[in-house]
Order: sequence, then C-alpha cells, then structure tokens
Amino acid sequence: MEGDLESTRSDITSGGDVVPQPLFDAMRELLWVFSPDDARNVARDLVERLGGTISDSDDLSASAIPIDLSFGAGPPILPHAAEHSVARMQLERYLPSFAIDVRRILQLHAEIERNQEDASLDSLTRLSNRRMTGRALGRLQSGEIVMMIDLDHFKVVNDSFGHVAGDQVLRAFGRALLSTLRGRDFAGRYGGEEFVVVLPEDSDPEPFLERLRELWTRVRPYKVTFSAGISLVGDDVTTALVGADAAMYRAKNAGRDQWSWATERDHLEVPSASRSVHANREASHFVAYSRLEIPEGHEEQFDQAFRDRLGAVDAWPGFVALEVWADTQRPTQYSMVSWWTSVEEFQNYMKSSDHRLSHDRIPTGSHRPTPIEFHRFESWRDERRRLR
Ligand code: GH3
Ligand code: MG
Ligand code: MG
Repeated sequence: MEGDLESTRSDITSGGDVVPQPLFDAMRELLWVFSPDDARNVARDLVERLGGTISDSDDLSASAIPIDLSFGAGPPILPHAAEHSVARMQLERYLPSFAIDVRRILQLHAEIERNQEDASLDSLTRLSNRRMTGRALGRLQSGEIVMMIDLDHFKVVNDSFGHVAGDQVLRAFGRALLSTLRGRDFAGRYGGEEFVVVLPEDSDPEPFLERLRELWTRVRPYKVTFSAGISLVGDDVTTALVGADAAMYRAKNAGRDQWSWATERDHLEVPSASRSVHANREASHFVAYSRLEIPEGHEEQFDQAFRDRLGAVDAWPGFVALEVWADTQRPTQYSMVSWWTSVEEFQNYMKSSDHRLSHDRIPTGSHRPTPIEFHRFESWRDERRRLR
C-alpha cells in the first residue's frame, strides 16, 4: 500500500484508529519497563509529549485527570491538562488503557521474579537448591573455600521420630546456615542432608563453622550434630568439592561432630587438563569406571579420541558426565569415569552403534590404550570410596 511517508512517521494507524506517535513510542518503551520507576518515567514522558503536565502531589485541581501514574510506588502522580484542550482529550482517551497495560506488565514481571526465586530455592530449607549450588560451584575461583556439611546420623531422626521431624530438622538447619552467612558467603542444599558452603577468598572457615555449631546447638529441635569437610580451592577449581567431600568423610570416620581440611590426597582425582564435564552428579547415579594405559608419547591422540567420544556420548539419554583423570603417580595411566542416571541407560549405550563408533575413533595399533581395569559401581560415592 502506498502511504504518505510523513503521516506514517507521525501517526500509526491501527484498526482504523490513529495512534499518536507519542503513544506508539510509549508502548514500545514498555518493553523495557521492569519496575514502577521505569513505568513512571515512560508515563511522564508520554503525558508531556501529549501536551499535558505531571504533578507529584495529590493536587486535585480542575486540571487534574484522575489516573494515578505512580503504579503503586510512592505518592500518587496525576497528569494535568487544561479543560477542553486537545491535550486533555488525548490524555483522557489514551491514558486509561496505557495504565492498564503498564500494570499488567509490572504484574507479569513480579510473577516472573517469584517463579525465578521458586526455581532457585530449595522449598524445604529456603537455601539455594541443587541447581543453583551447581552454578555456584561452576563459578568457583582459586583461593575461595568450599565446605561440604552433612548432618550426622540423620537417618536416626527419620527412623525414630518420623519424616516430619526429619524435615523440621532440615528446615531449622537451613535457617541456622542462613543466619551464619555473611557478605558474599553462599550456602546451598546439595542433597538430602548435605549442604555446600562457599566462602570468598581470604575467609577463615573455622570461625564460620564454630558460629554455626554454636547457633545450631541452641536452636536444633533434636540433638543432631554435623560434620564438615573444608577445601581451599586450588588452581584446578574442579577438584575442590571432591576434596571437601573426602575431608567430610574423614571427619565422619574420626567420630563425627567435627570438621577436617582436605589434603593433597583428597584432591587426588585430578582431572587431567580441563577434560571434565561439569554436571550435577547424584549419589544415586550409576558409575562406570575403567583404567587405561596410554603408551607414552601418545597422549595427544588419546586426547582427541576422548574429545570425539565425549561428542558422541553427550546427547545419549541418561548420560550425565564423563571424566578422564590422569594418574599423578603413574603418568601413563588414565581413569575414565562416566555417570549415568541408571544402569539400563548405560547398558543401552554400550550396545549402541554410537558407542562402537566412538571406539573406532580411538587410535589403533601399538599405541592403542589398553584397558587394564573395568568396574561398574552402584553410585559415584561407592566408586570414590573404592578409589581412595
Ligand atoms: P552419616 O552420619 O553417615 O551422614 O549418617 P546419616 O544417617 O546422616 O546418612 P545417610 O546418608 O545414611 O542418611 C541420610 C538420610 O537423610 C536418608 C534419607 O532418608 C534422609 N533424607 C534425605 N532427604 C530428606 C528429606 O528431605 N527429609 C527427610 N526427612 N529426610 C531426608
Ligand atoms: Mg548424614
Ligand atoms: Mg549424607
């Protein structure tokens, strides 16, 4: 349709009605409205461009048009325009539906925010949930502190007093953890009765744990203690949690109700280079483990084959993660570990052509890696215990 360029620029026609350009611009600005403040600015601009003025007070003189543009934040804001003026006619015509649109948008944003919060918080403890904890772990920086905290003999609470009592303990522990946090500290629920805490660089974790223990002893609904493992995040941030977890188990074995620092050995499962896939690993995941001998000088080919393999397995249903670890003591040996949501999914993959293809890519001949051990574990925790 041939249109008069000048009129298209100044007025937009919609369904036979002519939308004034200022209103059209304001509607477009609504895309960027996230708060009542933003909305007020857009409304103010619109009123002025339509020839009106804005009053921040509740001045109800004859020139006031009774449409509140404060959008629920602060004192009412009313537009003004002289009676019988064109500006007034336009404002009365367009502002009511504009204000409705703004309120709808603000409602929508509030709803999105609520949902986002629900999706990142654990509903029982109100701490960050597993997903957010995974993200926090993904952002670790060398020098920070990671702690794994696990309630002691928690099963006994469930068994003796019931699940409701167990939930009550978890809820109370979540609250205690939250009140112990300071500044940039992070705490999340990692699993059932396991919690992860991240403290910024140069933090001293022991006073944190002492404060937590002191508070917990006062507020706990049942006489439950906790054990913790502390790990200083090193250059390879991916081993920090493994270290904290191992240290936590040492604290458990030493009698519980105490904490322990991760040692070099706790970080033993050092992923070689950066070849680890970060994914949430559940204690219930099925784990397949194999140890490979890579002839010296052929690490590079192995590296490529491993990458190819990762590409092939990545999309397979039930696949969670695959890691290759260089053995620090035996430089020619690598461990390959894969996590699966169930043993069935693992078996399906092993029978698949994808698996055969990924094997075909592994270098052949004298430098082909030789599997020297192969295990399947119930869960990755069993597997880690076995490796230690
Ligand atoms: P340990 O000192 O070795 O950690 O012993 P534990 O009993 O705390 O550890 P275990 O891992 O054997 O048991 C943890 C229990 O936590 C088992 C599980 O039923 C319970 N649990 C996990 N999530 C929840 C939950 O959301 N609510 C309740 N009530 N119990 C839970
Ligand atoms: Mg426990
Ligand atoms: Mg546990």
